[in-house]
Amino acid sequence: MSRYFDEQETIGREKRERGQGEALRLMAERGYRKSPFFRKTLDGLSLEPAQFASVKELEKLPVITREALIDLQKAEPPFGGLADPEAQIDRIFVSPGPVYEPHLSESDPLWARSYTAAGLGPHDIVLNAFSHHLVAAGLTFHGGLRRIGATVIPSGTSGAQIQVQLIRDLRVTAYTGTPSFLMAIIRKAEEEGYAFRKDFSLRKACFAAEPLEASLRERFENEYGIDTYQMYGATEVGDVAYECSEKRGWHLCEEVLVEIVDPATGRNVPPGALGHVVVTRFNPLFFLFRFGTGDLSRLIEEPCSCGRTSYRLDGIFGRIGDAVKVRGLFVAPSQLKELQKKHPGIRFQLLIARTAHEDHLTVRFAGEAGKDFEEKFCSDFREICTIRIDHMERISPDDLKEGDPLILDGRNWR
Ligand SMILES: [Zn+2]
Repeated sequence: MSRYFDEQETIGREKRERGQGEALRLMAERGYRKSPFFRKTLDGLSLEPAQFASVKELEKLPVITREALIDLQKAEPPFGGLADPEAQIDRIFVSPGPVYEPHLSESDPLWARSYTAAGLGPHDIVLNAFSHHLVAAGLTFHGGLRRIGATVIPSGTSGAQIQVQLIRDLRVTAYTGTPSFLMAIIRKAEEEGYAFRKDFSLRKACFAAEPLEASLRERFENEYGIDTYQMYGATEVGDVAYECSEKRGWHLCEEVLVEIVDPATGRNVPPGALGHVVVTRFNPLFFLFRFGTGDLSRLIEEPCSCGRTSYRLDGIFGRIGDAVKVRGLFVAPSQLKELQKKHPGIRFQLLIARTAHEDHLTVRFAGEAGKDFEEKFCSDFREICTIRIDHMERISPDDLKEGDPLILDGRNWR
């Protein structure tokens, strides 16, 4: 079995750049014909689709953030004029906001490069513990695993006890999901009296949707004998980058263009500088150019000793803007504003901390809270933001003023 998914991963950089320029031009020309939003954007800037023959041209277009995408879709449901209205869409995913995402063609090798680089293949039985419900994660990771011939158990977000049973009974060899959930599964197995390393065959793990802290990685690898890999993507643009066995940065996928830009100007930063990760995926039906992921990173341009010639992302340094990820799911200010509308007499603020490798979400609140307020608020929060609050804390109105930030992210990833 090859170490590479295809020969594209090792082609010369000039050849890749030429291919990318060509793919970009084709997408711009098609987008101009099919997407009312893209046509309006180009006309407004007096640009021609044929101009987009090189990646540098992208700088002429605005960066579209997640919040902007939500507004676009609200103004023109369901896809904000970004999709080809005549396209045969496989499926539509929903992510918090809401953002509606027409799914890429089944022919796209989403995540297959990542799994290949992690050494997975037809000999593997993989527990896919990503959510399969509405969001893109579960099904797209499933597709990538099938593409490389692995057997998949779509265990989704079933409880830790069931996951332990599946790993044991089905002799699972690899896990894909969030790192914190794998740790919860291991803890459960230990509670049940198993020695994870000795009693189970799980030897590889591919993580996404949540950062992998160095200390946690060390535990997985040294204590439990699990070889770990990080994968990076966004539901709006699919897979973006992945780790190879060198584990020094994440190779960019061949199906995307990644720019690192100054969040204020949208222009590319100098090579190696930190900036906003902006992604354009070559997509024949959804013409989302320059999607701003909200993540901060930088590019490593030096060649990697694994033989892949793509640039690498140097991990994620944090978030720009206000939307944050908690336990792998976004919480956007638009959702919090909706909550505010439901509880008009209350001021509140989210505090996100990280202890024992898990996100911890506290809501501080002040104002006229009735008898059942906490219970009602928690259930509304869960419904709107799809995540659970760990702790509610009542504070004096003096400690929470009008105009204070809605979210305080106290996590430190590096
Ligand atoms: Zn490499």
